[in-house]
Amino acid sequence: MARIAFIGLGNMGSGMAANLAKAGQEVRAFDLATDALKRAEAAGCLTATSSADAARNADYVVTMLPAGGQVRAVYMGEIFDAVPQAALLIDCSTIDMASAKAVGEAAAARGLAMVDAPVSGGIAAANAGTLTFMVGGSTEAFARAEPILANMGKALIHAGGPGAGQAAKIANNMLLGATMVATCEAFVLAGKLGLDLQTFYDIASRASGQSWSMTSYCPVPGVGPETPADRGYEGGFATALMLKDLKLAMEAAQDVDASVPMGGQAESLYQAFVNLGGGSRDFSAIIKLLDGSWRR
Ligand code: NAD
Repeated sequence: MARIAFIGLGNMGSGMAANLAKAGQEVRAFDLATDALKRAEAAGCLTATSSADAARNADYVVTMLPAGGQVRAVYMGEIFDAVPQAALLIDCSTIDMASAKAVGEAAAARGLAMVDAPVSGGIAAANAGTLTFMVGGSTEAFARAEPILANMGKALIHAGGPGAGQAAKIANNMLLGATMVATCEAFVLAGKLGLDLQTFYDIASRASGQSWSMTSYCPVPGVGPETPADRGYEGGFATALMLKDLKLAMEAAQDVDASVPMGGQAESLYQAFVNLGGGSRDFSAIIKLLDGSWRR
């Protein structure tokens, strides 16, 4: 049994911490929100009074925070000074490359081992323990992280050195954003051309237009597997979070002079949808902006 400090018990972190506790680990959890702490306690975690308190005797620290600002504040302001020198630090948040690099370098300067390990799979996979982890860090740090991540995920992939996990996550989600927009456009066009949308799905899902956005996350209600489209685009992966990830991708692309025109178009469309009040809907609801049916 390992002693694990878990910081950030939100939509994703609550299920992840619960799965660590279920696997028999000693989880000391902290979040700024008291109701999140209560949920963690009910799921078998111990609770702490601060991030530093959680980290004090930890073998591992796992963080699942909203963005780079919180990750910098929690590690640089609290955890680095409190955590035992032998602990492994695992940041699972999706954050900007600059913050990931700054925090990773600050950890290395103190002789602390750290990996960036963002996830794919969403809230359902976080609850079910079936996340995909993309991990950046040394081979040795990855090997140490593996048994802990295995309690929360089914696919653990070593993406490369420090920051490589964030790079993989940002590039993957830019691809997801762009394919979702393209999939929505194709359904709108097919409908206007008089095709039955289920028939179009049956064809495109077995033809060269097939993608995950179509066959696993179809944006049309009643077509394909059950998805957020069948629940009024509630739940799932919020448009605001997709926009956040697209902005991270655009920032990273600018820093390295990468040409990403489709990602840029997707970012503009998701920004427009957020401005029109679609931020809390699942990101596949962008189809309603494209077909003109969006009402707040
Ligand atoms: P969330 O906002 O639901 O949870 C974040 C939690 O962090 C909140 O409970 C908040 O109170 C806590 N927090 C913020 N600052 C803190 C601090 N200083 N100290 C302690 N706790 C603090 O967010 P989420 O949906 O769980 O997402 C977390 C991360 O995972 C994000 O980076 C997101 O991009 C990424 N992600 C989310 C999904 C998804 O489907 N929601 C999927 C993959 C990746």
